Amino acid sequence: MHEIRLFKKTGEEKEREYTQCLICAHKCRIKEGKSGVCRTIANKGGKLYSINYGILVAQGVDPIEKKPLFHFLPGTFSYSIASPGCNFRCLGCQNADISQSYRDEGYESHLEYFKDLERVPPEDVVKSALRSNCKSIAYTYTDPAVFFDYSLDVMELAHKNGIKNVFVTNGYYTEESVGATKGLLDAANIDIKFFNDSNYRKICGGRLEPVLEAVKMFYKNGVHLEITTLLIDEYNNNPEEIRAIADFIASVDANIPWHISRFFPLYKMQDGRVTQEKSLTAAANIGKDAGLKYIYVGNIRLDGYEDTVCPSCRSLLVKREGYNILENNIIEGGKCKFCGYKIYGAF
Ligand code: SF4
Repeated sequence: MHEIRLFKKTGEEKEREYTQCLICAHKCRIKEGKSGVCRTIANKGGKLYSINYGILVAQGVDPIEKKPLFHFLPGTFSYSIASPGCNFRCLGCQNADISQSYRDEGYESHLEYFKDLERVPPEDVVKSALRSNCKSIAYTYTDPAVFFDYSLDVMELAHKNGIKNVFVTNGYYTEESVGATKGLLDAANIDIKFFNDSNYRKICGGRLEPVLEAVKMFYKNGVHLEITTLLIDEYNNNPEEIRAIADFIASVDANIPWHISRFFPLYKMQDGRVTQEKSLTAAANIGKDAGLKYIYVGNIRLDGYEDTVCPSCRSLLVKREGYNILENNIIEGGKCKFCGYKIYGAF
């Protein structure tokens, strides 16, 4: 087990000492011999340890557009890694096999299972990224919060080797963990799943407010941000909720790209239905009315909805088809080739 950076001994509860984890907004108070909500952090002797440090359940090369990040080094590849577990339990999770397999058992059984698995040293991830000509490393598929210390170790080495770092995350972070990524994290795609605390609690096992706070903190630290909302008919497609998400993004920066993604029934939400095309286009229009400059509709092929258009002269800048870039009119310095308008992002 690997001692984590962010914890504090806070005191006693029911006459037993506990230690508090500060990685994510659950801020679990963990007693000796127990683990937190994510089951990946355990208390041993009053210190907290990551039990999945270096255990990778996914390693691969993805287009950065798959994250999705459309305004961050477009057309490049991102070396993508994940460790098992999650701090959320989203009923519609698309990676439940690697994120949720943890939840029902104690951490000891996982430690036993990990005993025979290879723990990948951080330098091997960076070497693989360099070998595959990736410009970034993405901490993705499960939430980087559950392999946070490993991510920080990889991120430090990545920067030393000229590679950028990218989180794909539910955004459930604390002031301490956002602070720990300062200067190391270059970009993040953060989910805003609902604008409704009750649905966050019921469907994901989290809360809305910490996510909004983390978006603001990451932005303040200069992290390039893009936001994703998985649109689920009858759950979050009402115009008021969509408008509230769009207004929030605009209040941080109307340049932040917003990805509205189509839902397919998965995991424990088999009763949900595939999001209708008209719900997706209606949400995109609401985003435009709220003043957002870059809105994309994903998980569906809708002509023009994945393209980047210059907010100033309305010329087509980037024509996309799925993860492929068919045309790119953003020139050096990240400017529109036709009118010189500066486009949000890193190009
Ligand atoms: S990462 Fe989050 S869920 Fe896991 S132990 Fe720490 S505070 Fe709890």
